[in-house]
Amino acid sequence: MVRAIMLSPPGAGKGTHSEWLTLHTGAAHISAGDMLRAEVARGSDLGRQVAAYTERGDLVPDELIFRILAPAVVAAARHTGGYVLDGFPRTMPQALRAAQFGADLALTSNAVIYLTAPEEELVSRLLDRARRDGRTDDTLGVIRHRLAVFAKETAPLVDYYRGRGILLELSTDRPEAEVQADLLDWLSARGLMPPVAAESGPDHADRAGATLPRT
Ligand code: ADP
Repeated sequence: MVRAIMLSPPGAGKGTHSEWLTLHTGAAHISAGDMLRAEVARGSDLGRQVAAYTERGDLVPDELIFRILAPAVVAAARHTGGYVLDGFPRTMPQALRAAQFGADLALTSNAVIYLTAPEEELVSRLLDRARRDGRTDDTLGVIRHRLAVFAKETAPLVDYYRGRGILLELSTDRPEAEVQADLLDWLSARGLMPPVAAESGPDHADRAGATLPRT
């Protein structure tokens, strides 16, 4: 079963491809951003602390992230046998702590999907999403800041996971079906797809189909 980390700058498609992967593997989708937004919407003290960071496009401190995410990851992995972590980890300290946590609980990640697209494409997708969904952090200034935070804090994770031999780099500047076909091939070759999907042949991307309009 797949235990995947989706590593991607804002706008490269981690929401879309996480949902697709969840649909085709049965592994639980855990979106750090969605969980944080739910906490903010709840209006709790924790939510107010979180909002102070997310509104500016800054990362939420590691302690808060672990407090919110860790129980969900453990429960989801127990329930489905796998996970698709969308938006976590995003810093080297988070990655190292997650690796320790994974080793302790026999939940070590076996795939890291690194999605890329040219910066101007990322910005234009996020501005489109702003028009569609009205997310408060999808304004031009905050988008630029989130991209800078990605380059500084999250990009170093690419080499870390490449060194562990579990990284797949995929350009998303092309049709979603092509990205999904490459993803499916790579996961199948590693024995990480459930048997039915792995045997579904060359037209699997068409049949897999679900193209969800999210970034
Ligand atoms: P995007 O990738 O488009 O920025 P997300 O929904 O994944 O969107 O994240 C939204 C915001 O939530 C981030 O800008 C950040 O403030 C916060 N966030 C999400 N994941 C993390 C994380 N792992 N560590 C710290 N902050 C996070």
